[in-house]
This record gives sequence, C-alpha cells and structure tokens, in this order.
Amino acid sequence: MKELFNMTTTIVGFPRIGAQRELKFATEKYFRNQITAKDLRKVGKELRKRHWLELQHAGIEQIPSNDFSFYDNLLDTTFLFNAIPVEIKNSSLSNLDKYFALARGYQGEEGDFKAWPMKKWFNTNYHYLVPQLTNDNSFQYHGGKIINEFLEAKELGIITRPTIIGPFTLLKLSEFGIGVTAEDFTQNLLTAYGDLIADLSANGAKWIQIDEPSLVYDLTSSEIQWVYDFYQRLLTKKDKTKILLQTYFGDIRDIYHQLLTLDFDGIGLDFIEGKETKKLVESGFPEDKVLFAGIVNGKNIWRNNYQTTLNLLDSLPIKKVILSTSCSLLHVPYTVSAEPFAPNIKKHFAFASEKLTELKELDLLQQNQQLGLLQTNQKLFAASRVEENLELHQQIEKLTETDFIRKPDFEERRLKQEDALHLPLLPTTTIGSFPQTREVKHARVALRKDELSQAEYDKFIKQHIQECIKWQEDVGFDVLVHGEFERNDMVEYFGQRLSGYLFTKNGWVQSYGTRAVKPPIIWGDVSRKEPITVKWSAYAQSLTNKPVKGMLTGPVTILNWSFPREDISLEESTLQIALAIQAEVLDLEKNGINIIQIDEAALREKLPLRKSDWNSEYLDWAIPAFRLVHSKVKATTQIHTHMCYSEFGDIIQAIDQMDADVISFEASRSNLEILQQLQDKHFKTLVGPGVYDIHSPRIPTKTEIINELHQILAKVPQQNIWVNPDCGLKTRGEREAKASLVNLTEATRIIRREL
Ligand code: GLN
Ligand code: ZN
Repeated sequence: MKELFNMTTTIVGFPRIGAQRELKFATEKYFRNQITAKDLRKVGKELRKRHWLELQHAGIEQIPSNDFSFYDNLLDTTFLFNAIPVEIKNSSLSNLDKYFALARGYQGEEGDFKAWPMKKWFNTNYHYLVPQLTNDNSFQYHGGKIINEFLEAKELGIITRPTIIGPFTLLKLSEFGIGVTAEDFTQNLLTAYGDLIADLSANGAKWIQIDEPSLVYDLTSSEIQWVYDFYQRLLTKKDKTKILLQTYFGDIRDIYHQLLTLDFDGIGLDFIEGKETKKLVESGFPEDKVLFAGIVNGKNIWRNNYQTTLNLLDSLPIKKVILSTSCSLLHVPYTVSAEPFAPNIKKHFAFASEKLTELKELDLLQQNQQLGLLQTNQKLFAASRVEENLELHQQIEKLTETDFIRKPDFEERRLKQEDALHLPLLPTTTIGSFPQTREVKHARVALRKDELSQAEYDKFIKQHIQECIKWQEDVGFDVLVHGEFERNDMVEYFGQRLSGYLFTKNGWVQSYGTRAVKPPIIWGDVSRKEPITVKWSAYAQSLTNKPVKGMLTGPVTILNWSFPREDISLEESTLQIALAIQAEVLDLEKNGINIIQIDEAALREKLPLRKSDWNSEYLDWAIPAFRLVHSKVKATTQIHTHMCYSEFGDIIQAIDQMDADVISFEASRSNLEILQQLQDKHFKTLVGPGVYDIHSPRIPTKTEIINELHQILAKVPQQNIWVNPDCGLKTRGEREAKASLVNLTEATRIIRREL
C-alpha cells in the first residue's frame, strides 16, 4: 500500500465558457456594445466562483485558478507580462479592450490594430493566439489577472493553485519579428516569472502550476539545455511556495531525467496520451517530489476504467501521488447529466463534472474504501457495450492490399478523364458550399420543429440548388457544385445519417474565443443506412450539362472531429467510416456524378506531436483509409480532395499518396507558401491552391487574382492547375461571394488567353 498523502485529487484546468455558454453570450454582447465591461467582468467572476465551488463540492483538493480566460490563456500570459505591441499598449483603450484588440483586431478612433494570428493548440481543436514578439517587447510582471483571481478565490476561502503557461511553451508558440529571437527574452522572462512567483507566494499561494506542454515534442539538445538552465535559475529564487511543472498531450521522454534533477516540488505527467510515461516513471522518480498523475482522460468523454487505473497506480514505484487529469478539462463538455440519453447509454460517459467524481472515487478506491464503486465500474467494461456489426467486421477483415489501391494508375486515369470531361486549361470550381443565408438556416430549424414538412423543405433546398447552378453557369464555372444548402456542418451532417453516432444537446467545447463546437460521439460500429447526398447531387446534375461535383466528407476528418471510441482502435473506426463513405462514392458514380470531392479538411490536425510517430501512429492508416474510399471508382471518375491550412509542406508526399486526381487547399492566407514544396517534391496530384482569402468580406480584384495565378504558374505546370477560392464560402454574404467569384472566373479567362 502506498503512503497516503493528504491532498490527493486535482485537475489541470476546468472549462470556463459556462455550462450554458454564458461567457460566450456575455462576451459577444460586450462586442456588440450591448453590455458594459463591468457587466462582462461580473459574468466572468460568477463563472469562476461557480466553478471553484463545484470543484470544492466534488471534493477536489487542489483547485486551479487562472485557468479562466476571456479569450485564451496564452494571450492572457503575454498580456499579463505586458509583452504586447506598443501601439496597443500606448493607446487609450481600456485594459480589457487592449486585450480584445489583440484577440480580434480593433478599428476605431484609437487606431487600426490587427489581431494576432490563431493556431491550433497542439493536437486539439482549441485555438490559441500566437504572440507576435518584436524588438519593442519585454516581459514584466506588475500583478494582474493571475493574482487577482487568486485573491478572489481566497476571499471565498479557497486557496487555489494558480496556473500559468511556462516560458518554454510561450516562446515555442510565439512568432518573432525581424532581428529578435527567443533567446533575447530569456533574461527578461526569468525576472518576470520570478516576480510572479514571489507575488503569489507573498499572498499565500501554496502551489503554483507552470504548464509546459511543449516538452512533449521531440526536443533538440539546445532546447533541453535551455529548459534546464532556465528552471535551474528560476527555482533558486523559490521560497516556501511549491512549484508544479505540468505537462500534457504526450510523454516527456526527451527531458524526463533532466527535469527530475531540478528543484520542482511536483511533476505533472500525462498517462493517457503519454505512451512512455509509465515506463519513464518506472525508471525512477525522486522520493521528495509529488507525482501529479494524469490518469483521467481530459480529452475524451468515456468513463474511466477504474481497475486499469488502479493497476497502473499500483505498479508505480511512487510515494507521493496526486490524482489528476491528463490535461485541462477544457477539451470536454461540462456535464452529461442533462443530456437526453437513455440511462444505459449515459452511464458510459464522463464529461468534465463527472470526471471530478471519478477522481474522487479513484481516490477512495486507492485507499481501499467503498469497493462497491469498483464493481459498478467494472460492469461497464465487462460486457460488450454495443451490438457488434458482424457483417462489417468481416468486411474489414477481408480487406486486402488491392482494396486500397485504385487502378489504373494516376497517369492513365488522367488521360481518360481528359477525354471524358473536356475541361479547359485552368478549370474553375469552388470548394463546395455557397453562402448560407439566414433563410437557409431558418428552413433547417423549421424542419426540425415540424413547422416545415420534409416535402416543403426539399422543395426549398432544390430551389436554392437550381439558382446556384444557374448562377455558376452564367458566371462560367467549369465544374459546378450544388452548394451544400442542406448541411449544417460537414461532420454532423454525415454523422446524423450514419448508424453508430450519438449527438449531445449541449455538449459544447470551446474552439476559440467565444466559439464552441459540439463534436458528435462515435458510439458504435459505423455504417451507412442509406444514400446520404445522392438525391441532391443527382438533382443538381440534372439541371446542367456541365459536370457537378459530388461533395463528401472523408473518413479521417469525420473521425478527427468526433469523440472517438476507446474500445476499438482509431484505425478500425476510420476503416468503418471509410467503407460507409465508399458506398456513397459508388452510389454517386452510379447516379451520373463523374467528379466527386472527398474533403479531408482535418487530416493534418491529428498528426502526432512527435515526428517519429507520424507514420507509424497515423499516416500509415489514415492515408490508406482515404484511398479505400475511392479505390473502386471507374478510371474516368475524377476524385478531388480538399484540405484546410496549407501548412502541410512536411507531409506533402503522404498527401500525394492519397492518390486523388485533384486537390484544392486553403492557401491565400499563407502567401501560397506551399508552391515551393509542390515544385520541390514533384507533386503529381493536380492542385487548386485557393487564390483568395474567403475569411474577409473584401472583394479581391481581378488584378490580384491574376497576380496569384501568375505566382502559381511560376511553380506548377499549367496543365496541373485548377482555379478555386479558399474554402468557407458558406460563411460569406451572397453579394461579396458572388462579386469575388465573378472576378475569379474573369481573371482566369484573361490568363488563359495569355497561355
Ligand atoms: N466543402 C466544404 C465547404 O465548402 C469544405 C469545408 C472546409 O474546408 N472545412 O464548406
Ligand atoms: Zn478547407
């Protein structure tokens, strides 16, 4: 039996938007000038209080603070240290408005400030703001949010553990202006973090949590040295306050042993995603440190398997353990309690609130108390949770290599498709959706509420398709789309039409700032019940002699934007989805659709954090799963795919191996950076780099588009180029979308005459 520690449970962080997304609605009201800053701050304060008390009530003994944020924690950290652009710092905006100016940009009397860019937070769907550090910046600590929130909790009688993103992660995730590097900030950060620790300590903090998720990446020896030197110097200044170094999203194999020699009081490790964490701890963990064991999954919504967890804890040669989550609970919804699932389904889920209970129960079990809890939990895992689709399992078992290879090969198909499709040079198309007007969204709601019959709704959608086709013909697009008016979301739409999926009513997870998503849950074996998109695509094709592109979401994206199963592998789940989408592809083909786009918007997203894992852990099954979807089509059927973010230079070969005939990708915001890679790596797939940014209401001029096309022509052979905008047309207003697309087609016609 382990020596017991009086403080035994904690979490890395808690969601902050509020169970009813109160923070989102209040913040958006503030943005629209409907409430005052004071009102907004009050909502923030209430939410913090509610969450601290909830944690306390659930028996969590170390409660974090400063995990709250009005927008993003990395922005909070940079803002706390006042490392922000001088123009904003010197403006007479209020503090809160300076903060929001960095998050969303500001245009007004005080000036014209651009927002900091946004990027995906590690391998999650949360986005952080990328600090832009220049010569003018320095980091200084003069109090602020972190201490205020600590004192706020203290007033409620709760001594929290303030959390802050650490210097290594902060610098790793920042971008630097000309003439500055991360190194330039080292001294500065040492002082700033030192002052911060001193202040929290003077005010009674017993523990401080420093988050360094960047330590789970592959680290270079100079990075390891930097971390070691920095913390060695920082920790010499520490007094009675204990410091927890918290890591998550993987294991820290590159720096584990060095970290243990530093004077941290606690080390937080992820036992869920950290494949080697157990092995590392078994190789040694100092007696004088506390292990914050991340054993409850902060990223997925399934119940913890208590026996497995207890076995793990038992096997660790550790004296002092605090049970924790693998990462912040920011990445799961609040509570399953109000979800309308049947009890025998519901009992399998643990959202944020339920995970608090799990920690408490594991703690009791660890002390050999309330053993009945273990039995109840074991029952959840003893029997098969879902009825298995044996036919599907056999189908997957029978798959052989040839099922993943499309025949004939790319070059031969290309000639056949040219003959069949007769497309001009630089064919023009769009990525799929057309503007979703309020009218379209209302019709969907009306259908759901039975205010509109299915027949009326179908008629309404058909009318939109008809107008959309007519408009594209008039403007002169070569490959048309039906416009996706029937879809709310590219994953939910498919999930709702596949068996094996569950949907929450209120399972919101913060995506960025005030935005949240509601990922569906893969509950069981996934299969297609009936054709999903055929009716709409075939109708669109019946209206025109030009080819209409069928529009599907690919298996990897469907998986990546859902909560995945834990009882079968991601690979197996993806193959199931791939077979469902394959059936849809073949039905589209049978119904006269000769061009089919299979979107893999999120393929890059779940690339493992360690490069050495990219192939074995992900690409080796994700790319074949995509190929499985289209391997059975005729040579003359042209397969397109689409990816968001052009940041895939490093996996460009894997993308070529998807063996699509054409790929379009979001490119204009990254200045077509991808072009060089395409050239260097002799990319074979035909490409449509987005020629203008769809995220802005600005209408690009013909000249701008011509310039973009010239840049593309300079790097990619002209027979390989497609012309399209970036993705996301559905979010634009009709007027600007159409004006921009007119310019796109005209610019293309001008260029064609030059060639
Ligand atoms: N076909 C989808 C659309 O045009 C693709 C969305 C995306 O790229 N995320 O909306
Ligand atoms: Zn996209």
